[in-house]
Amino acid sequence: MQALPLSAGRLPYEAPSDWMPISPAFDPWDPIRSLKRFGRHRLTSVELTVTQLCNMRCEHCAVGDSLTMKEAPHLPLDAVLRRLDEIEHLETISLTGGEPTFRLETVRELILPVLKYARARGVRSQLNSNVTLDYGRYDEIAPYLDVMHISFNYTEAEDFHRIGFAKSGRDVSLPAAAKMYERMMDNARKLSEGGLFVSAESMINFRTHGKMPEIHRLIVDMGCKRHEVHPMYPSSFAAGLPVLSREQMRAAVETLLDARNQEVWMLFGTLPFFACSESPEERSLVKRLRTEPGVTVRNDPDGRNRVNVNIFSGDVYVTDFAAIPPFGNILDDKLEDIFGKWQDHPLQRGVSCHCPEASCCGPNLLVSDMYYKHEDFRSRRALP
Ligand code: SF4
Repeated sequence: MQALPLSAGRLPYEAPSDWMPISPAFDPWDPIRSLKRFGRHRLTSVELTVTQLCNMRCEHCAVGDSLTMKEAPHLPLDAVLRRLDEIEHLETISLTGGEPTFRLETVRELILPVLKYARARGVRSQLNSNVTLDYGRYDEIAPYLDVMHISFNYTEAEDFHRIGFAKSGRDVSLPAAAKMYERMMDNARKLSEGGLFVSAESMINFRTHGKMPEIHRLIVDMGCKRHEVHPMYPSSFAAGLPVLSREQMRAAVETLLDARNQEVWMLFGTLPFFACSESPEERSLVKRLRTEPGVTVRNDPDGRNRVNVNIFSGDVYVTDFAAIPPFGNILDDKLEDIFGKWQDHPLQRGVSCHCPEASCCGPNLLVSDMYYKHEDFRSRRALP
């Protein structure tokens, strides 16, 4: 690991000592915080798509259809940063792909300058990476990063091989995949040991729903500080995969809660369970999630406090929901203006409910489309 000039006793990748640590009590990505503070949704979070390349082709990839074999030219970084400058209450920046670290040029010419911009502005950062490449590139990034977000849906190398290359269209041998699997786990462990906040996300789907406790155990073994858990929703590569019923999903969440290590923060997101549910079992799960120590349920940031910017086209996306194409472009408009326009859109208004007593501000559009088609959440209320 690279030696860094540090004050005594601090680990090389630890956040600045005067920054409030990210914790179950402080999750700056949750839109409920800005909703409480401003009384309406405000843009506090931007996700930048910094590459369309990836060394994997996962069967569940939410952006699989947009992955390419050759990188297109991107907009000048300065143009992107000027648009970020205009956001008055910016609190978080996330970097995503593809695999953002796939090319070293991307690491050095885009990722590092954006992370340094974020640090200088007091903004928290997250990188979504599969951490399967050589450690050196993560070591360059880690001192400037707040959250390394990885995907982890496996109990053994065979799962990784089956899931991670399902859409690659070429034969990747099991030994080659097993080597990447080991490197991913080693990298996550080393980054955690260096003091970086590594958050591993697992999806509950037809493959994983019976194995979540085992997946959780491996995540804890890698030293991750957080296990993030989401149901899988059918977008892009995942469109043809079998869908779980709400009952199967509820059972998987309950089993995971029973088995989890309580020392590790567990963050749930995009769950289809709400305090307004007519089902007593679902309401009881919602209550359990609220009261378990070290467990949080993050409201969905998409279109509530966050937009996504594709730095190749400048297109701005407000949601993963396929019915909504890019909602604007940074070459033409300010991000806050695009965000403001989205708040008035009928689709967004249909899920714009808010029950302060449940700390809930409504479902994600994919969730409502999959489990609550035609439901107007504004007519619902949290039940006791
Ligand atoms: S905010 Fe919406 S989804 Fe959440 S409990 Fe209230 S009505 Fe239900």
